[in-house]
Amino acid sequence: MTFHQATAPTAAQLDALRRSFRGEIVTPDASGYDDARRVWNAVFDRRPALVVRPSTVDDVVAAVRFGREHDLEIAIRGGGHSAVGHSTTDGGIVIDLGRMNVVSVDPDRRLARAAGGALLGQLDVAGQAHGLVCPVGVVGHTGVAGLTLGGGFGRLQRHFGLTIDALRAVELVTADGRVVRATEETEPELFWGLRGAGANFGVATTLELELHPFDGTLYRSARLHPVSEIHELWPVFRDFAVAAPDAVATIFGIGMAEPAADYPDSIAGRPIVIVSYNHSGAAENVERDVAPLLRGPEPAVVRAGPQPYLEAQTSADLSMAWGGRSFILGGYVDDVSSASLDAIIEHVARVPGEGSVSISAQGGAIGRVADDAMAFTGRTVPFDISADIAWQDPALDDACADWVRDAMATVVGDLLPGRYVNELSDAGAEMTRSIYGDSTLERLRALKRAWDPENVFRLNHNIEPA
Ligand SMILES: Cc1cc2nc3c(=O)[nH]c(=O)nc-3n(C[C@H](O)[C@H](O)[C@H](O)COP(=O)(O)OP(=O)(O)OC[C@H]3O[C@@H](n4cnc5c(N)ncnc54)[C@H](O)[C@@H]3O)c2cc1C
Repeated sequence: MTFHQATAPTAAQLDALRRSFRGEIVTPDASGYDDARRVWNAVFDRRPALVVRPSTVDDVVAAVRFGREHDLEIAIRGGGHSAVGHSTTDGGIVIDLGRMNVVSVDPDRRLARAAGGALLGQLDVAGQAHGLVCPVGVVGHTGVAGLTLGGGFGRLQRHFGLTIDALRAVELVTADGRVVRATEETEPELFWGLRGAGANFGVATTLELELHPFDGTLYRSARLHPVSEIHELWPVFRDFAVAAPDAVATIFGIGMAEPAADYPDSIAGRPIVIVSYNHSGAAENVERDVAPLLRGPEPAVVRAGPQPYLEAQTSADLSMAWGGRSFILGGYVDDVSSASLDAIIEHVARVPGEGSVSISAQGGAIGRVADDAMAFTGRTVPFDISADIAWQDPALDDACADWVRDAMATVVGDLLPGRYVNELSDAGAEMTRSIYGDSTLERLRALKRAWDPENVFRLNHNIEPA
């Protein structure tokens, strides 16, 4: 489908929409327009023809129909955190679900219902009020819908599975304006595709998620080392991670000890290795479970201790607040060669913003689901590797994006097929193929032809129907 409306909708067209629309409609002449068009990542400074904020499922249906009737490119916005600007558009319509954000919990059925614009922090708080949890991401203002429809990684996934593993049902407004409920039993193929490629098939107005009992304490540690110790540290981390108890989530990070004043002289202002873990099991098991990870050189700095889960889940909300600039790319590995580790260190030393390379252990409950059970790919691979950077000055946009691309190039020899769809700031047909691989992509294309043959929903890592 081509979107060829060169001009914004007319006043008469907007009036017709307003007659039935119960939510908010924000056009470029409205005082709230600049606020309404913002997304989390300031790189994507786009000017939609209108932003609509539905209050009801009927509003969402009306918005999708309006976009189609007037050939407007449709951007769906949940939490607005897309790494690649997919929740905004120049000249199109943004369907911002921010008003539809209620989360309710049925503690007896251990089930949460999150509306399409709910944020992770709301789901965390609603679940913990009953001693329950859904494994989600690590920053509270991220959208439940965008995170879940792509997969969902965080501090509890090795323990309880990916966020999509907890997904039980999605209520979806489709490209032709129908409201469908997708579950394992009803529309199983659609439900398969929604779990990993979910931004392609419609507007999710409700997600139903299974909750797990969880007492709400994380036992956390970050151990900072000079990079001269990396070749001793990596094999210890790698061998620990592949056999670690499910309760231990662990990350091997390479970043800069900056601002230097915050670090001891032995590492200040230079590249460091950060070995961190979150233990979500019983206090009495922590020491035993993490002991093999702590072998090797003594760290220059150790930060460790228990923290309430809800506190940990909001601990990065301010440092990762709206309005900054960001770029990220990722892939999968089962090991990182010594040469790659050396190249990463050299590259990190030249970072133009706040950048790092992170190698996160998968495994545990993540790896016990078959790789083809959902559209999500890569769950049986031991490690996700990503490079990301944050900065403020628009003049650094190209340098920062290139730094991330070059960081991933340093490990290209180690990369395995597949990528996590939610951690990619580059997009395009080849990127989509590299996410899903040929056979999953073909299955997704058949699904797209069935549910969105005209590619109405194409602001995503796009599954092209034709
Ligand atoms: C600060 C920050 C922290 C992050 N932390 C994590 C993390 O810990 N774990 C992790 O796995 N990922 C993490 N991510 C990545 C995150 O999962 C993705 O950026 C995700 O797409 C964000 O979802 P959103 O709803 O906030 O974004 P949006 O920009 O609103 O949407 C992202 C994509 O999902 C689609 N979408 C959103 N809502 C809906 C809906 N209701 N129906 C249909 N499609 C929809 C959009 O069209 C778009 O294609 C983080 C990102 C940021 C910026």
